[in-house]
Amino acid sequence: MVKEQKIHEHGFVRLIDIMGGDNSIADAARVSYGEGTRSVSDNRNLIRYLVRHKHTSPLEMVEVKFHLKLPIFVMRQLVRHRTASLNEYSGRYSIMSNDCYVPETEYIQPQSQINNQGRGDNLSDSWKRKYQQTIREYKDKCLVAYDYLIGNETVAHGGLTRELARTVLPVSNYTECYWKIDLHNFFHFCRLRMDDHAQREIQDYAKVMYEMVKPEVPIATEAFEDYSLYSTSYSRMEMDVLNYVLKSFPDAKACIENLKNSEDVNFGMSKREWVELKEKINK
Ligand SMILES: Cc1cc2nc3c(=O)[nH]c(=O)nc-3n(C[C@H](O)[C@H](O)[C@H](O)COP(=O)(O)OP(=O)(O)OC[C@H]3O[C@@H](n4cnc5c(N)ncnc54)[C@H](O)[C@@H]3O)c2cc1C
Repeated sequence: MVKEQKIHEHGFVRLIDIMGGDNSIADAARVSYGEGTRSVSDNRNLIRYLVRHKHTSPLEMVEVKFHLKLPIFVMRQLVRHRTASLNEYSGRYSIMSNDCYVPETEYIQPQSQINNQGRGDNLSDSWKRKYQQTIREYKDKCLVAYDYLIGNETVAHGGLTRELARTVLPVSNYTECYWKIDLHNFFHFCRLRMDDHAQREIQDYAKVMYEMVKPEVPIATEAFEDYSLYSTSYSRMEMDVLNYVLKSFPDAKACIENLKNSEDVNFGMSKREWVELKEKINK
């Protein structure tokens, strides 16, 4: 069954197809581990082990396919994810849609002073409305020029070739594509594009895409959230700081040891994960 959700005024995400599921990941892993999987026999343990140790090729056995309608500037960010296969609407063959992205006032923010690639805050409502009005007026002018060039206004001749007429369209104009990617690279895409550092518009797409896939692979997405999405890694220098702190405060190490043996609080970690944590802090 196709799942569909509208994004902004004109866009949408449709989950067209998904090949495989948690079982296909576990089955593929068992081929490589063979007899060895007896000790980690259930799928959840096995998949969590794979994701935790970045043994990711079994995740590639699952593929997700979307139909997306999105502004060209979001499409440009999407195509940077090179492992996906895609097929896009042709502006050479077909007439481009009149739909253009105009941000809601809530999205209209000033340039951040601390992050060249981000938005700041504190823009008055009147400036928000003025900026929105300018965006709207200029996309309307571009659409009028496009209509004129393709011949909608000048019936005397057949109009300019579509492949050149489209050059006047803004990057807010909508395009459509089919986009297919394996689960390992989909997780990589989600981690990058659901993050606060990504542009808010692509975040909106990535979050909806992720939520559509989640119920189809509940064990793999749970492992992704635990070991990738909500985790972080430390540099060698940061590890030195943490180890220095642990050595300076022996109580901290004892506290970890107590937690490991605690019946009440264990943070949802398996016995094996407690052993791995101990190995990390003893390095
Ligand atoms: C917040 C943010 C800001 C960004 N800003 C910019 C910017 O200013 N300018 C800009 O140009 N891009 C920018 N990007 C795009 C970014 O540099 C990556 O191109 C994009 O995120 C795709 O990441 P990727 O290459 O890891 O993913 P994918 O292309 O999906 O590849 C997945 C993984 O496959 C492997 N892989 C794929 N192709 C190759 C290859 N040819 N060689 C080796 N390994 C490969 C890599 O391990 C890679 O991580 C930005 C991205 C984000 C999230």
